[in-house]
Amino acid sequence: MNTNNTNDSIINVAEYYSNSDIRIKKISKPLINEKEILVKMQACGICGTDVMEWYRKTSAPKILGHEMSGTIVEIGKQVKHLKINDRVFVSHHVPCFDCYYCDNEQYSACNLLHKGNFFPGGFSEYIRIPEENVKFGTFLLPKEMTYEEATMIEPMACAVAGQNSLNIEKDDTVIIIGSGISGLCHIQLAKNKEATVIATDISDYRIEQAINFGANYGLNASKINIDQIKKINNGRLADKVIVCSGSMSAVEDSFNYIDKKGKILFFAVPSSNISLPSTGLWRNEISLFFSYGAATGDIQATICSKINCLLNAVIRYICCNYCCPFIFCKLNMTQTGYS
Ligand SMILES: [Zn+2]
Ligand SMILES: [Zn+2]
Repeated sequence: MNTNNTNDSIINVAEYYSNSDIRIKKISKPLINEKEILVKMQACGICGTDVMEWYRKTSAPKILGHEMSGTIVEIGKQVKHLKINDRVFVSHHVPCFDCYYCDNEQYSACNLLHKGNFFPGGFSEYIRIPEENVKFGTFLLPKEMTYEEATMIEPMACAVAGQNSLNIEKDDTVIIIGSGISGLCHIQLAKNKEATVIATDISDYRIEQAINFGANYGLNASKINIDQIKKINNGRLADKVIVCSGSMSAVEDSFNYIDKKGKILFFAVPSSNISLPSTGLWRNEISLFFSYGAATGDIQATICSKINCLLNAVIRYICCNYCCPFIFCKLNMTQTGYS
């Protein structure tokens, strides 16, 4: 990190006001207690939710960023399982493992998971990691994983968490509506379970990438005829549908594509309330699922298993197809001209 700060206790942060108003501000370097650590941020991804103005502006001004990776630079005396210079991913949300929801393995419903966070946010040169996040949310990066790659751990873990409720099985036909980054994560996970995957999008470019990522079929959402889906799934509609787009038409499409007894996962939601075709859902016994965030186990699964290979494939795609400084906010002020 190369900044023009003369005083080491003053650091740079990027403060969000709106999508077109992000201000570089100087604040005091956070101090840690004996059970905390201080991480020097190396890379931080911009989440799809970070650019959802209707969602983010209500809490602005705020230092956003939760897809971060970094190096431990200070460590509290009581922290024994980590050391200075460890390369880590830190989850901003962690469950307490000590409440009704956690006891029932419903970690994403834990109150701590919803209210906890690291300070002051991911788009900061240095980040203070509170005790709970040190205990349950700090993960060593595998040697071969770069800091930039590690910014995809959280998004992939959220997809893992979302698919947990769907029980995707071999031979299921799964439609993924929206083939952006989260759609690609879902494609890879569903393919890993040997499902037949139909990816949709309104962009032909994204459809092409969905196919590159293993989708068996790529259909343009604006031109789909449900007979195409039936043809693919032996005369039936889809067994599972995953909505990865915040548009209302994606939600409406999901109700049209799902087969009787099917499951729909709303991984993304629109800004306004959804109206349900309740009679059809009732008669066809459709189950609706929503998923929010990821918990410790989903992150471990993402880092430690075969999913890690899938994760790297998504990262290679991002690095090849997007302008990296847009995706990864490295607060190198000299380089960006904000010094
Ligand atoms: Zn995110
Ligand atoms: Zn809990």
